[in-house]
Amino acid sequence: MKADLFLLKYGEIALKGLNKPIFERRLLSNLDSRLAKIGRFSIKAAQSTIYVEPLETVDTDETLNELKKVFGIVNICPAVRCGKELKAIEDTAITCLEEEETEGKTFKVEAKREDKSFPLNSPQLSAEIGARILDRMPGLRVDVHNPDILVQIEIRKDAFVYTKKIKGAGGMPVGTNGRATLLLSGGIDSPVAGYMIAKRGVTLDAVHFHSHPYTSDRAKQKVLDLAKIMTQYCGAINVHVIPFTDIQLEIIDKCPKSLLTVIMRRMMMRIAERIAEKTGGQALITGESIGQVASQTMESLAATNSVVSRPVFRPCIGMDKEEIVNISKKIETYETSILPFEDCCTIFVPKHPKTKPSIEELSEAEKLMPNFEELLDRAIENEEVVSLGG
Ligand code: ATP
Ligand code: MG
Repeated sequence: MKADLFLLKYGEIALKGLNKPIFERRLLSNLDSRLAKIGRFSIKAAQSTIYVEPLETVDTDETLNELKKVFGIVNICPAVRCGKELKAIEDTAITCLEEEETEGKTFKVEAKREDKSFPLNSPQLSAEIGARILDRMPGLRVDVHNPDILVQIEIRKDAFVYTKKIKGAGGMPVGTNGRATLLLSGGIDSPVAGYMIAKRGVTLDAVHFHSHPYTSDRAKQKVLDLAKIMTQYCGAINVHVIPFTDIQLEIIDKCPKSLLTVIMRRMMMRIAERIAEKTGGQALITGESIGQVASQTMESLAATNSVVSRPVFRPCIGMDKEEIVNISKKIETYETSILPFEDCCTIFVPKHPKTKPSIEELSEAEKLMPNFEELLDRAIENEEVVSLGG
């Protein structure tokens, strides 16, 4: 079915009271930039609904696909335009219903008129069209309390009819809830973690640690590809690619092998926080999940937390791998995440990592690298920033 109008319903934004216009404006501008690549649209908000109307011929499925990725929208209703005569509305309602499974189902008609000059009021119009539908589709029954199918009619400049309600991405519009810095590896978890926080309206920057020549350009490209996929939901992302090799080699040279991974993670957190300082990031995000690996035990997590002062968000913390995988499949990062390229964390893995390191022993071990702050400075000076548009 070709849609002439898309009605977008939002959830939480409707509860924002006096701040509602701020959220609404951001959602409209996010929609504007997202739909610009498909065609020209008129995008307007009225009574907790956003009306997206194509101003030229566009592909309905492509538009729906794009709309389904915009945070802040709970439901999307594609509607068909028709004339305002009752017969035209009736015929359009029937066409919409013919696309549904109707045999033995119940329905209800709900009409709304913005155009108050329309001769019938909303209940009269609902009743009239309901009766005509019953005549033409004897398999249907009316249930005004809990209908299987809701036939909605809006009388505006033209009439619009719709029966479909497609689930949107939910969440809050990106850009309404501050900014955070995602530690983005090439794995499955961190893209999902970034997605979950962006879903709450947070703008993302990403930091990726690269260990050239131990990790290849293809491994770096894989991370940029992941970030690019994420931009479909999260909007534009700047990826800060940090050369991490010198720091890793210094850790390997000076520190006990069993503490290598956690010290590495502490260095990553320190650098990420400095990037956050520069970019205005108010929190850090990682893809950690309790107990998944030795560096994600409660003790290790406490040790990586203790070197930064910003809050660290770990939205995957209570999820099983399978749950994380399911989200990564849904957001289409999975196939890229599982490509078998090396990661800086996997190339220098100690045989017997300590699973319960104490913060004191880690601080002592780091004293064996008295110049590590300089190494961090140098790594940041040599960062490469890749800007990926949304
Ligand atoms: P992922 O699947 O996201 O790679 P993981 O289960 O492999 O996670 P670790 O390698 O222990 O876990 O990393 C834990 C977290 O540390 C990652 O989710 C990510 O946030 C961060 N991280 C790990 N390696 C890197 C890297 N090379 N660059 C940036 N962040 C990283
Ligand atoms: Mg990883």
